[in-house]
Amino acid sequence: MTAIEKKSILLICTGGTITMSMDPGTGALIPFPFDQLYKQLPELKRFDYTIDYIPFEPMLDSSEVGPAEWIKMAEIVYENYNRYDGFVVLHGTDTMAYAASALSFMLEHLKKPVVFTGSQLPMSMVRTDGKENLITAIEIAAAKEYGTAVVPEVCIFFESTLYRGNRTTKKNAERFNAFGSYNYAPLATAGVHIRYNRSVIQYNREQQDLKLHRYLDTNIIVLKIFPGISEAYVRAILQTAGLRAVVLESFGAGNAPAYPWLMNAIESSSKSGIVFVNITQCNTGSVDMGRYKTSVHLLNAGVISGYDMTTEAAVTKLMFLLGHHSEPETVRSEFGRSYCGEMSLD
Ligand code: ASP
Repeated sequence: MTAIEKKSILLICTGGTITMSMDPGTGALIPFPFDQLYKQLPELKRFDYTIDYIPFEPMLDSSEVGPAEWIKMAEIVYENYNRYDGFVVLHGTDTMAYAASALSFMLEHLKKPVVFTGSQLPMSMVRTDGKENLITAIEIAAAKEYGTAVVPEVCIFFESTLYRGNRTTKKNAERFNAFGSYNYAPLATAGVHIRYNRSVIQYNREQQDLKLHRYLDTNIIVLKIFPGISEAYVRAILQTAGLRAVVLESFGAGNAPAYPWLMNAIESSSKSGIVFVNITQCNTGSVDMGRYKTSVHLLNAGVISGYDMTTEAAVTKLMFLLGHHSEPETVRSEFGRSYCGEMSLD
């Protein structure tokens, strides 16, 4: 009889509320030493898994997590890839959707789960949502069928739902259901059973090994259109030194006012090599350029569609593409390709 191998999970602890406890002196939330995890969460011992952890030093509020830390997280997954069945990233909720989106582009040919989770209340509090979140995230990261991972994606597990990471947005700063995935169905829901929605999970059947992409170029801006937007503001922001791409947050199905100065500013920047991507300010639905007259002129000015992508996915996809391609035309055409299910093209 062959021994059944114990599953192994690596926890990557970056910080956030889940890794904090109340300082009895000041009442402020401070990170607790992560080797106390088993004290905070003795339930972990009941898993028949090997669970190791790598803490960030120092632990960070996710408002302070950015490209340098995404590279560090992706490198940890890459370097430990063969030793573990799955990875769980403990992360603050504020920028978790950005981090999960970034890692989905940086870890090509991923065949193991990378599950982000966190909490709205610290682990040390009686009513914490962190325990449920972490325990279920670990179970999902370890789930296998016929020897392969059930969810080989970068995802976010939060309050009973598993989402594709690059489809998520933080939607709630108060309730436990902190995330929404408005344009893509949940990958799983956890109640009495964890029910996987296999028809929407992406299975990578290619034989290639995991490839790490560590170059990110942050020379981008997000320009949110609003009624009354001024020429001075738009011109100033487009003058940003080193600027290579703009996420244009438009109205509805991708519309913006046809002010001649706005179109001239976009057209001349676009001709000089700046990539403009159109993302809707709506949570649900897609950019459909050309449907209204108020988006035809954006098309003519050289703006490309971001379809139904989130701003988080568009920002990180642009950083990833600009980090790997110097030609604006290549970035424009690559942006229109779905890399890891971040947009719906049909
Ligand atoms: N400010 C915290 C963070 O994002 C909030 C949280 O963890 O929910 O790190």
